[in-house]
Amino acid sequence: MAKTYSIAIDGPAGAGKSTIARRLAKDLGYYYVDTGAIYRTVAYFMDLLGVSPKDLDGVNRYIDELTIGIEYDEDGVQHMIMNGMDVTQDIRNQDISQKASLVSAHAVVRDVLLDMQRDVAKTHNVIMDGRDIGTVVLPKADVKIFLTASVDVRAKRRTDELIAKGQKAELSQIKKEIELRDYQDTHRPIAPLKMARDSVKVDTSDMDIETVVQTIKQIVGKKIPV
Ligand code: C5P
Repeated sequence: MAKTYSIAIDGPAGAGKSTIARRLAKDLGYYYVDTGAIYRTVAYFMDLLGVSPKDLDGVNRYIDELTIGIEYDEDGVQHMIMNGMDVTQDIRNQDISQKASLVSAHAVVRDVLLDMQRDVAKTHNVIMDGRDIGTVVLPKADVKIFLTASVDVRAKRRTDELIAKGQKAELSQIKKEIELRDYQDTHRPIAPLKMARDSVKVDTSDMDIETVVQTIKQIVGKKIPV
């Protein structure tokens, strides 16, 4: 099998991971895998069944009834397929963000999703973003980036994004939710959000998207042929 290249981008909510990863994937001709969307799909599925994301017994009972598919449309946009149904839009709200953070703490959930994520990287050049890509999913990734920004900047970006999508969003509330998610994601015992030792930290607080893209392209260009 031909060598495939992988770029891992980890970091907290609102750091700009998906915007940057999508841009880079397009420019490099790589697959973009948004792993947060996979956890969101699990959260959405449990939510439809009325199972609390904290309820380990409930999650254990129903996880095998969930089949997740990842498809890409002609524009390279990732679609999440939950038991045959496209739920790409349904998983994009603050309620599911919070539930995804809780459901993703269970070992059973992380185990089920691990191979799925690794399989994509075995057969394609990928840019994968998430919380544990450089540390757990692809520990041998060719490039590892830890993308971060101050909580105020991240909250502002997330608020603007939700408003642009026509959803209600209040800055102080979004900031609280992001802080809670940061706490949960960094303090869980399994695959917590942390910087891999060999990753490069990029703080995007004072950068616009173009500057971040160029910064990351320089880092990538030193490690893999582009
Ligand atoms: O990145 P996104 O905000 O869509 O992720 C939703 C939640 O999914 C995160 O808060 C985190 O708890 C979980 N997640 C994870 N591991 C990943 C990606 C996301 O635990 N690789």
